[in-house]
Amino acid sequence: MEKDLNGAVDMQIDECGQNKHSRNQEDQDFSSNILKCTMESSSLMQTFVDGYHGKHPAQDQSYLSRREFSFTLENDIYLRFQSFKNANEMEQSVKEKCPHKIDIGPVYSIDPVKRHAYAQSGSNGFAPVERELVFDIDISEYNDVRYCCTGSDICLDCWPLMAIAIKVIDAALRDDFGFNHILWVYSGRRGVHCWVCDSKARRLSNEQRSSIADYLHVYKGSENSSKKASLTGSVLHPFLVRSYTNVLIDYFEKKLMHSQKLFSYEERYQKILGVIPDESIVTELHDKWKADRKSSSCFEENRWNQLKSLLQSRKQKVQGLRRCVEEIVFTYTYPRIDMEVSKHMNHLLKAPFCVHPKTGRVCVPMDPQHCDSFDPTAVPTLSKLLEELNTGGWKADTENGWSGTSLGESIQFFRSSFLQPLLKTCREEMESSYNAKVQSNKNSLNW
Ligand SMILES: [Zn+2]
Repeated sequence: MEKDLNGAVDMQIDECGQNKHSRNQEDQDFSSNILKCTMESSSLMQTFVDGYHGKHPAQDQSYLSRREFSFTLENDIYLRFQSFKNANEMEQSVKEKCPHKIDIGPVYSIDPVKRHAYAQSGSNGFAPVERELVFDIDISEYNDVRYCCTGSDICLDCWPLMAIAIKVIDAALRDDFGFNHILWVYSGRRGVHCWVCDSKARRLSNEQRSSIADYLHVYKGSENSSKKASLTGSVLHPFLVRSYTNVLIDYFEKKLMHSQKLFSYEERYQKILGVIPDESIVTELHDKWKADRKSSSCFEENRWNQLKSLLQSRKQKVQGLRRCVEEIVFTYTYPRIDMEVSKHMNHLLKAPFCVHPKTGRVCVPMDPQHCDSFDPTAVPTLSKLLEELNTGGWKADTENGWSGTSLGESIQFFRSSFLQPLLKTCREEMESSYNAKVQSNKNSLNW
């Protein structure tokens, strides 16, 4: 066990770019702190997944043991279908195996560890029965519309794309689907995850999940086509109109168009013009912009206005042309969710508060109301937290032990804005279904 632990420590130190500790005492302190860090994150996470039930006579005792956890160990060794009877057992397992990453899967009909025994006995009852509705949005899906970063990198210039996704999806989940218990987390590297934890969301079938994902989906382009949003029909769906007016257009005109310099370079504006199906308009704009060689800080604003007025003021008979302005904005801003993650109950998703193995950043919850000011590059890393804990003395086993660290605010937000309201609702639901059951038993006795 000690060997495993030291292995994990070495990895973290390497990734954080620090020197390996050589002295024994220091090594041990460091190891034990890493362990505490992992345990705190797993116990918080465990509260999150077990918390639906609490101690109530109507509680389903087997709930936690039917939940799949997946551990990723060093060298990408995956341990799927882990399950635990209680928090202690989970902590023990985390201690022993020191996973670099913990993913959460669905709750199955039976304990996933025993799935083979059930299969051998001829009963075919192993299937997911409950799972939070989840969304995964990766910045790398936007690589064709951002120029500040490549690959999985993310910076403050492209973060607005994530902020847009959070705002658009959060509003739809609350206003159109009536969900209340929604947790948004920064994944620690290249994107954001959303966990919808209302009981009616957890019980959705795969088909219902697909419908919700389809409702949110307009991104239809292929890698080679400039048009990445297909807006069909004579009027736009009210949800798309609302997203456009309340979120997309502002972000496009005030932020992204400028930060990505979408009209300053021929290669970039060619891509925008590629969305317009009318060749004479494309040629007119292209020639005008190409001839205008003066460098100007207002390229973006001027050219965007020229494009808009040409498309919108010509009394275009073809409706598709007028729609082009919206299609450009949708192409450059609209959320691009990973559909497969949302559609299937048995998709795994990284647990909140885990440390991302590649960046060392903690997967922190964030307030969707303030996602604009969230800075993914300033998220606490494991090495930073350990430093803070070492200097401040370890206190994380107490209720507010993290308050002195840079993780304190996230944990406070997680508990007060998400976990407590969620647990309150779950208790109330359990109470009312329990009372209804008691009442119906009484009634049947009266007969
Ligand atoms: Zn960037």
